[in-house]
Amino acid sequence: MKLRARAAPTREVRCLHCGADFAVAAQAMVLTCPACYKRVTVQDIVINTAQNMARVETCGRVVVRRGGKITAGVVQATVGVEVLGELYAGSVAAPVVHIGPRAVWRGDLVAARVIIEPGARVLSGRFRIQPAPPPPAASEETAA
Ligand SMILES: [Zn+2]
Repeated sequence: MKLRARAAPTREVRCLHCGADFAVAAQAMVLTCPACYKRVTVQDIVINTAQNMARVETCGRVVVRRGGKITAGVVQATVGVEVLGELYAGSVAAPVVHIGPRAVWRGDLVAARVIIEPGARVLSGRFRIQPAPPPPAASEETAA
């Protein structure tokens, strides 16, 4: 079920809600998943400053630059998470997580692969390594 690009440059993303793969315009930022009709952010989320967000969710990557600091309840990125600054989260889920040499990390993590550079500070968190992100629930039970 993969549609190849014709004229406009596209890239493939995976819906973080339902797991469907679909192609989007290269410059797309936010759109509606063709499979589950939920709105999803497909652009990378780059944190350069101190930010407080309940949920950081994207079908791209979450990047915390050096000097950036994110405090969040949930961080979910279907491509990966890269932390060079500080990340304080309740839970993080991504296939690949890179914690840079001077990064500060606090939060539980589910990932297929974690790279922790020497000099990174992991303050706390339970890291669970599993081959793929948890499959989306078959039946949607959304509270409220
Ligand atoms: Zn979807």
